[in-house]
Amino acid sequence: MRNQTGRIEVITGPMYAGKTEELLRRVRRAEYAEENILVFKPVIDNRYAEGEVVSHNKSHTRSINISKAKDIWNFITDDTDIVAIDEIQFLDEEAVDICEDLADQGIRVIVSGLDRNFRGDPFSFMPRLLALADQVDKLTAVCVKCHAPATRTQRLVNGKPANYDDPIILIGATEAYEARCRHCHQVPGKKKKN
Ligand code: ADP
Ligand code: MG
Ligand code: ZN
Repeated sequence: MRNQTGRIEVITGPMYAGKTEELLRRVRRAEYAEENILVFKPVIDNRYAEGEVVSHNKSHTRSINISKAKDIWNFITDDTDIVAIDEIQFLDEEAVDICEDLADQGIRVIVSGLDRNFRGDPFSFMPRLLALADQVDKLTAVCVKCHAPATRTQRLVNGKPANYDDPIILIGATEAYEARCRHCHQVPGKKKKN
């Protein structure tokens, strides 16, 4: 039975799009079906809680914190039906191959992650994962400037749009992120590609 159910579902989009909410919704439904579910998140994401996946509207479930994608194998048993991973973009690229292996073994893989970084460019290995997925749901948030569907994450440093070349860690600066549409997203110093 299990062999036929293996698949990769990716929930993607910018911050605040409801990716974690949607992942939790699918996990809850599977709990009603008495499936064996493992929920993982990268240890780097400590925004709200250790050992929990939490959405911006405070929906949450218990999770296993991992620092390397291959740590997932330590928890897989013959009984595992579903593997869910929140914020997968913060794991290493081996995560993509592991998703493929799990799905091939008959496990339903549900992952969520950002498709773009704050610069608006594809986020590390996410393009590969999106291409290999059996199902992709690209969600939008609400643009905080114009209320159009938001597809980008705006990074603000000390209240101003972050520069293209700004380092990922800025000591002593106040950082914030918000959802914005294509037209309201600002990345000073970014060159047009074509
Ligand atoms: P994600 O995992 O994609 O970052 P979450 O699932 O954690 O998103 O949170 C989604 C929730 O964030 C929404 O249901 C809403 O309550 C809240 N939210 C806050 N700001 C926004 C916004 N600009 N657009 C949409 N939802 C927002
Ligand atoms: Mg999230
Ligand atoms: Zn906008």
